[in-house]
Amino acid sequence: MQAETALTFDIKPNQTPLAEADRLKAFESLGFGTLFSDHMAVIRWSSDKGWHSPEVTARAPFPIDPASSVLHYAQEIFEGMKAYRSADGRVVLFRPEENARRFNESARRMAMPELPEAAFLDAVEKLVRIDAKWIPEGEGSLYLRPFMFASETFLGVRPSKEYIFCVIASPVGPYFKGGAKPVKIWVSEHYTRAARGGTGAAKCGGNYAASLIAQAEAAENGCDQVVFLDAAEQRWVEELGGMNVFFVMEDGSIVTPPLGGTILPGITRKSLISLARDEGITVHEKPYSFEEWQADVASGKLREAFACGTAAVVAAIGTVKFSGGEFQIGGGETGPVTTRLRQALVSIQRGQSNDKHGWIRAISGI
Ligand SMILES: *Cc1c(COP(=O)(O)O)cnc(C)c1O
Repeated sequence: MQAETALTFDIKPNQTPLAEADRLKAFESLGFGTLFSDHMAVIRWSSDKGWHSPEVTARAPFPIDPASSVLHYAQEIFEGMKAYRSADGRVVLFRPEENARRFNESARRMAMPELPEAAFLDAVEKLVRIDAKWIPEGEGSLYLRPFMFASETFLGVRPSKEYIFCVIASPVGPYFKGGAKPVKIWVSEHYTRAARGGTGAAKCGGNYAASLIAQAEAAENGCDQVVFLDAAEQRWVEELGGMNVFFVMEDGSIVTPPLGGTILPGITRKSLISLARDEGITVHEKPYSFEEWQADVASGKLREAFACGTAAVVAAIGTVKFSGGEFQIGGGETGPVTTRLRQALVSIQRGQSNDKHGWIRAISGI
């Protein structure tokens, strides 16, 4: 039986942190995922010891054996979340327990060990605490990337007997360059992202590896993002490469594709469904086909469409392009429902409005 004792992190501060002046200089031109904080949190797992050696230490490369199983069979999962500095100076996380829970759902699907939720949350919190000065003010936030990979030196095909869990942090500005202007998306007709029984609902690196060629095709066609249709019929709208999708109808109702194993259960998606219902909006989680989408745009029944996820929060979809042509939604402008829902979510995430669902977790003493 594995010991139930709580993990106690060994804290080893970075002896050569980035100089304050250099950090502030880097903050002036924040992109996404290019700049990293001084530390990382690490916990190791082996089949004989279970979770062990938790530490917060200087961010540094891992020595990886060329036969490390992740390099061959891609046993890897991750999460994405953000720490914000609220207007009143608190440091807050948004629904971090949802990330901890989803991380373990991904772990189960990928035959990886589950990490006690308390350890996941502790690792995130310890990293945010030690690197709190890396949280940008204003529009920015500290993007947190918990992940786990198979680290056993072994080429046989079976689940690894060793894993490394790690959290790194990256100060970020807005996800889409050029601010909140609507994005142009490409409908992938050749490639699919996830099939029934596959890993579509797990946040694993492999899903992204499979989506990159479609994303490249989108870019070649002058689009920002790709939207995938279902693998079985190539008909039903599923989601973007890393964001869920919503449609706002003429009657004020909202449609979003249902979770069913092929779509990533986004925390932003789930939160927006709650916020929309709070406003009295009817939300249908139901299949929506690309044909209906085109017909509804043509008839004026579809008023707005948007994509959502932690990194980009809410991004209006302005143009949809596919092999047979392209069409615009809402005259290429961000619509009122999209704007309102984004504002409602962002103001909770930034601690600016009444958090009636209790989604915000303040990290005390920073
Ligand atoms: C992470 C992710 C999302 C968005 O999830 P959030 O919890 O809202 O950040 C959507 N789709 C895919 C494929 C993802 O990996």
